[in-house]
Amino acid sequence: LASLDAHPQPSVVDVGGVPVGGGQLAMIAGPCAVEEPERMLRIAMAVKAAGANIYRGGAYKPRTSPYSFQGLGEDGLKILRDVGDTCGMPIVTEVTDPRNVETVARYADLLQIGARNMQNFVLLTEVGQSNKPVLLKRGMSATIVDWLMSAEYVLAQGNPNVILCERGIKSFDPSTRNLFDVAAVPVVKGLSHLPVIVDPSHATGKPALIPPCALAGVAAGADGVHIEVHDQPEVAKSDGPQALLPEQYAEVADQIRQLAALL
Ligand code: PEP
Ligand code: MN
Repeated sequence: LASLDAHPQPSVVDVGGVPVGGGQLAMIAGPCAVEEPERMLRIAMAVKAAGANIYRGGAYKPRTSPYSFQGLGEDGLKILRDVGDTCGMPIVTEVTDPRNVETVARYADLLQIGARNMQNFVLLTEVGQSNKPVLLKRGMSATIVDWLMSAEYVLAQGNPNVILCERGIKSFDPSTRNLFDVAAVPVVKGLSHLPVIVDPSHATGKPALIPPCALAGVAAGADGVHIEVHDQPEVAKSDGPQALLPEQYAEVADQIRQLAALL
């Protein structure tokens, strides 16, 4: 179902009124984790003014350590929904547990499956049975075919609305958090009709590397860019070291628009 043979035209996924995959770029931005409402609103207004069209934030955080901040749970979903409504942006948030899919789907416009859960087949089946679009991140050690097979799990349940997201793969080199596989974008485009976006934040882990990799992703044909933004990265509850400040986001968003106009 994910293959171009099944569906030769590029798919367009409607995310709360924002078409993803039809030419207009999905500009997903927001902090790693949902935090307090005032901060969430401040960041949302800033990224929206910079051109973001989908707001992000995790309420259920898949942390490496069980002692790290795990997210605000349903309270976080409420905050994100309220802020999205106030600013007129659809929202995307991660669901980590099949038991929470119904709850998350009640609030979110787009359900994110994180890299760590790309092959959680029970979770994929569950989001496949929901009527919400799915943002499927590539697993950190997944081949492109593995990733498309995971998309297939969602599609096979009758949910055609899958967006793929390249977020970097494991490598031997600690110079970057992960290794940004920019070639994955044209490889997927050659195999599948599904929209593909890039996440240079998790791919690189370093603010200075985010703008060049965002632009590389768009040049390679990505249908959107996912970037983490925080107004005080030093106190962020998660992924502070890779967060762009709102003014840095505004600058890269402007560069992305200029590049997209040339393509
Ligand atoms: C995230 O988007 O904050 C996240 C945890 O991403 P990934 O699953 O790509 O690590
Ligand atoms: Mn993050």
